[in-house]
Amino acid sequence: MPNWSNWSGKLKARPQSLYHLRSEEDAQAIVSMAANKKQCIRVAGATHSHAPLVVNDDLIIDPQALSGIVSTDKKAQTATVWAGTRIYALGKPLQDAGLALFNQGDIDQQAIAGATATGTHGTGTTLKNLSSTVIGTRFVLANGEIVNCSASNNADLWEASRLHLGAFGIVTQLTLQLRPAYRLKENASVAPLEKILGELDHNTLNNRHYEFFWHPQSDEASTKAINETDEPPQYPLAEEGSRCAWNHEVLPNYRPHKHTEMEYSLPSSEGPACMRAIQRLLTTKFRDVRWPVEYRTMAADDVWLSTGYQRQTVTISVHQDVRVDEEPYYRACEEIFLAFGGRPHWGKVHYLGEQQLNSCHDKWQHWWQARDLVDPEGIFLNKFLKGLRP
Ligand SMILES: Cc1cc2nc3c(=O)[nH]c(=O)nc-3n(C[C@H](O)[C@H](O)[C@H](O)COP(=O)(O)OP(=O)(O)OC[C@H]3O[C@@H](n4cnc5c(N)ncnc54)[C@H](O)[C@@H]3O)c2cc1C
Repeated sequence: MPNWSNWSGKLKARPQSLYHLRSEEDAQAIVSMAANKKQCIRVAGATHSHAPLVVNDDLIIDPQALSGIVSTDKKAQTATVWAGTRIYALGKPLQDAGLALFNQGDIDQQAIAGATATGTHGTGTTLKNLSSTVIGTRFVLANGEIVNCSASNNADLWEASRLHLGAFGIVTQLTLQLRPAYRLKENASVAPLEKILGELDHNTLNNRHYEFFWHPQSDEASTKAINETDEPPQYPLAEEGSRCAWNHEVLPNYRPHKHTEMEYSLPSSEGPACMRAIQRLLTTKFRDVRWPVEYRTMAADDVWLSTGYQRQTVTISVHQDVRVDEEPYYRACEEIFLAFGGRPHWGKVHYLGEQQLNSCHDKWQHWWQARDLVDPEGIFLNKFLKGLRP
């Protein structure tokens, strides 16, 4: 049996088969075969999730070969892309077509279908997560059919599946809402955390992107402000913190150190108080934690299971070395996040069960009903997701 593990190496699986998908026809055939054998299918993106979304005993599918841009429409500012395309592979071709993603996360290694599956986001009070840019999806469903969905075609399926958790079928293509290509300039600084919190409203409102990393065991935090610019790109790209170049060159960072991560989204008004509560926890009970705490913002959206659903959001992330047992620290953080109305990131560590997730998400039941309609036998549900089914 093959070995599978996620990016951090913390999650492992020994599926009966690890299948490299080559085409949509191949996807249809593998789904029919799995359905006949009553096997469960999980599709992997770039395996960067810390939640056990892909872990599976039966079949793990790697659709890396479904990669590249299918078409772009400069007038409509959209592109249709193959689901396995890594975000880093979208940047330059989209720029050459005069287009760009509105925003992206801290790294660009994820597959686009993996990133949209979990509501991956960057920072910026006016910027929504990647799932909210999905205006069309092409699926191979559990019955082997290929179905396109969008706001005007199979709208119920599209609406539920913009944030899909890999639970609706195999995504083969996505159509994304984009914007004209743009350049960004980054400015980094270091300041005391209290000063940063005091200036937070001003800085989050007056920069397109603003975030900070507080370094426990010190009073200081590193900030990053990024804004649109007409200045020409500067190559070779400067160090992280002072780059000036195209959006896809400035936004992603290099994060080689293997870690786990818990992240919660909070109503934006609760962000500073929650940050202070996490700071107190680290300075009183978890003084040996060295990994930074990250603070970002995100615009409200209308995506059913999004952590930004109908509310302006602050996200706070805690990290720990992958070799360390993170659970006591993360459980203590989770208690604080929940007390501030937090919703867990779908791709990161959390310990919530079905009832708690139901109370975090207004559309929880609706999402499951829409999912069960296209996969009544649950062939796209692994043990982890079955455990969350209402
Ligand atoms: C170093 C690091 C930095 C990160 N930075 C950020 C960040 O800045 N912001 C943020 O929000 N998150 C961040 N994350 C989390 C990450 O973006 C999410 O976990 C994301 O879902 C990972 O994408 P992936 O391509 O690796 O997908 P995977 O983790 O492999 O899979 C995620 C989900 O997508 C499904 N899936 C993937 N492809 C398909 C397909 N073709 N069809 C059906 N289902 C599919 C899987 O089944 C699974 O449910 C980071 C993670 C790491 C490790």
